[in-house]
Amino acid sequence: MTKKTLLEIFAIVGIFCLAGCAKKSYAQPFKPAAKISSAEEEKFGRVYQKMSGRAKEAICVAEENKAEFLKDLHTMLEEEKTFRADDKSLFFLIDKKHAASSSYVPKDLVSLEKNSLFDLNKAGMKIRPEAYSALNEMAQAALNDGIRLLVSSAYRSYSYQENLFNYWVSVDGLEQAERESARAGTSQHQLGTAVDFGSISDDFDKTQMGQWVYKNAANYGWSLSFPKGYEDVTGYRWECWHFRYIGKNACRFQQKWFGGIQQFMLEFIDCWKSMS
Ligand SMILES: [Zn+2]
Repeated sequence: MTKKTLLEIFAIVGIFCLAGCAKKSYAQPFKPAAKISSAEEEKFGRVYQKMSGRAKEAICVAEENKAEFLKDLHTMLEEEKTFRADDKSLFFLIDKKHAASSSYVPKDLVSLEKNSLFDLNKAGMKIRPEAYSALNEMAQAALNDGIRLLVSSAYRSYSYQENLFNYWVSVDGLEQAERESARAGTSQHQLGTAVDFGSISDDFDKTQMGQWVYKNAANYGWSLSFPKGYEDVTGYRWECWHFRYIGKNACRFQQKWFGGIQQFMLEFIDCWKSMS
């Protein structure tokens, strides 16, 4: 890639930033940026070019803060090494185009029934250990604010999801089912890191619990997966009840550089890892 092309790329990024980025403050700022190599800057340009149009608009990286972005990215990727290595990354990209195998089951799933901090709307629910700890931390914080969380769905096996999707097709037809339910192998619930809260309906957003979770989930590492107005990006209509555990650092990274859109950040990380 020529120097001129690179400059053009970063000029485009700068223009998008001027158009779309608002200055925000963060409770726990990342450390000051370190010096980043030109190879990394060049790689950023290549990954950025692979992103969708809407992702490019959302990515808030201008020429002058590119090094800061890359430093934050490395902070995240370093932290990822502290997650268990014998299971999928918490940043594993799973969507309508990226699937898990039918045999994939997260390791050491923890039953939610042991907890005393939140309610369950059915028996037998489990999640990954990292997500379990974070859920307890969030539930305790909610209790401190006078709200007791209700967990309505957690880990789903491939076959469970297959039956669920087929059920919704029989109820609503294929087109509507595709907007609200994942085909087997493409659900975040199979990863054991996604949780549905409350009524699993739009009404949840109007409840105290729904508002509390919406405002506070990211402080405990939980990210809203399918925000309003991004169906063309995520593949699913707004789901105010569905949150995925990605870790506190990733939630801050997502908010700081990707307009708070989980899908953009996970696509960027997936692409970054796949490129040399
Ligand atoms: Zn869900």
